[in-house]
Amino acid sequence: MRKVEKQNTGSDSGRTALGFRKATWRTNINSHKGFTHDSIDSLGYDWERIANPSIKPGFPLKVYLPQTTDDIVKIVKEVKSLGEHLSIRSAGHSSNNLVLNPGGSVLVTRELNKIVEIDEDNMTATVQAGMISAQLDDRLSTRGIGLPIIGDHNHITVGGFASVGGISPASHRFGLFVDTIERIEYVNWDGEVITASRTENPEQFYAVLTGRGQHGVIATITVKIIKIDKYTTVLKNNEKHYFDLPSFIKGAGATIRNPGDALYERGVWLNYPLPGDRSIGVGQFSAYHATGQTGWAKARDYASYTYLDGLGWAADHIPTEVGAALKLAGMLGVVMSPQYATVKNVEFFTDKVLDSMVGDPTRMFIILAPLDRFDTVFQSAYDLMLEFREKHHCFTFLSVYVKSIHSPYLAQGGPNDRFCELMFYNGIDNAGMTSAVTEELVNRFDDIVIANQGFRYMHSLTSSDPERRRKVDPNVYYSSRVPSEDYTAHQEVRDPQTTTRRIPFGSSGPEETIAFDDEAWRLVASLLKSEGAQGSIYVSASSPGKEAELYSAIRQLVSHHAFNIDFGPAGHAP
Ligand SMILES: Cc1cc2nc3c(=O)[nH]c(=O)nc-3n(C[C@H](O)[C@H](O)[C@H](O)COP(=O)(O)OP(=O)(O)OC[C@H]3O[C@@H](n4cnc5c(N)ncnc54)[C@H](O)[C@@H]3O)c2cc1C
Repeated sequence: MRKVEKQNTGSDSGRTALGFRKATWRTNINSHKGFTHDSIDSLGYDWERIANPSIKPGFPLKVYLPQTTDDIVKIVKEVKSLGEHLSIRSAGHSSNNLVLNPGGSVLVTRELNKIVEIDEDNMTATVQAGMISAQLDDRLSTRGIGLPIIGDHNHITVGGFASVGGISPASHRFGLFVDTIERIEYVNWDGEVITASRTENPEQFYAVLTGRGQHGVIATITVKIIKIDKYTTVLKNNEKHYFDLPSFIKGAGATIRNPGDALYERGVWLNYPLPGDRSIGVGQFSAYHATGQTGWAKARDYASYTYLDGLGWAADHIPTEVGAALKLAGMLGVVMSPQYATVKNVEFFTDKVLDSMVGDPTRMFIILAPLDRFDTVFQSAYDLMLEFREKHHCFTFLSVYVKSIHSPYLAQGGPNDRFCELMFYNGIDNAGMTSAVTEELVNRFDDIVIANQGFRYMHSLTSSDPERRRKVDPNVYYSSRVPSEDYTAHQEVRDPQTTTRRIPFGSSGPEETIAFDDEAWRLVASLLKSEGAQGSIYVSASSPGKEAELYSAIRQLVSHHAFNIDFGPAGHAP
């Protein structure tokens, strides 16, 4: 067994003492260059900022930067002794209010960035949870090994990925990132260090995976690795094009149901609005297969990806009008995907190309549906987006990225382990996308998912309605099986009977009188949020003590901000 003791991967120069070559991006992968993850400023935001650039920040009062598991234990114990809530933040790529804690405490994982061990006998890598997965993959690549599942973006951390799921164009073979995790070490809210795997503490293992930090802080992750040379292995893209939606749904559906020997695959349908309420739609599906490693194939890969990467760079550096033309050229790059690509370029394709078209604010809405519901879910969700664009003018372009997922984790012990991902990545017009429109849209989007027995990918915006969230969250099944640990202060959904209210609040608001029922909760949330969301109240409605706290907190907010809420009917008020 080859062991590597703790190695700081933060440095970027030279060969390390432990034998790794330096992590230099061999293909100069770029991504959202105008947006930084590691400034103090970024601590007040999550990815919601990309959808709504005028959103107000919600800065934490305290930030913890642990470097070791012992540090995490100390932090958790301190926070517990102070009776505080601790939010966990990796790089903040999520946009569902998961990493923010305005005025509170946030544990930031960026200094938990070391490789603990590479075990090439058992083909696993153990790393600290704040390690950036693309950086780990880059390090592994110097040994001809790599991660089976990696995100398409070069700042996602392994801890964040594990806490939401993790999908790639290889998910039809390897599943979610969490399906490739062998073991975790995490610190629960009592400050205990727990090692969990499929055989040791399995309930905790499954609950922490996709748990979005509700059950404690993941300190280290042991993940499967595979033999692969991602930088030099060129694949051939059997690409298909579609010029109307029914053909795309039919063609993409057929390919994801029967991927054959495709090693990586993904499809995309794009719809651009044209003047006069018209639009143009085009789709393509890329299925990457093994091919001969010829100089010609490698040259074509190099030329096309240098072009795409250059487009992204240029669109960010030249005047807006010219940039707009380049973004369209970038879109062409999506549709006319290069015929040859290295594995690395396949994995990062979306990020490179999306980068060249990011100009509008954008938002992701993501569904994980049973594969046999692909056609229905696609059509219903797409119709919903068209309806909202027409009625509220809240979207500019629409795009839907399609992948296939073969996941025992999502199957939840059942026989159906084949799913699809539908990622709506839409341009946002914030004049039309008011908070009320957003809330209505996500509620209806979630309803489509519920009607088709699917899940939402919980890092992207979901309804704030706890009942809907419970039905669409793949983690609820596993969380409800964890034996009696006290997660009350941290858990969003504890068990199917528990309802948790989460209310974003803002700085001021109009005067309103509303009754205290489910509709009222939604109204309060949307009214307060429309004034600039700056925080959240969490309370478990199954816990009477917390309910009292909630009411008094709301009353304070209400009196401070001139809201006037009637807490009837009788029985609700403490
Ligand atoms: C441009 C872009 C591209 C993306 N591409 C992909 C993709 O290809 N495939 C895919 O599946 N997803 C993708 N995502 C989504 C991404 O996986 C999620 O946003 C995810 O949240 C990881 O981001 P992060 O590491 O910044 O985690 P954060 O957003 O910081 O955290 C996510 C959640 O994990 C929790 N968490 C983080 N670290 C820990 C820890 N150590 N212990 C316990 N809980 C923790 C947080 O509390 C939070 O609830 C993409 C997102 C963006 C913005």
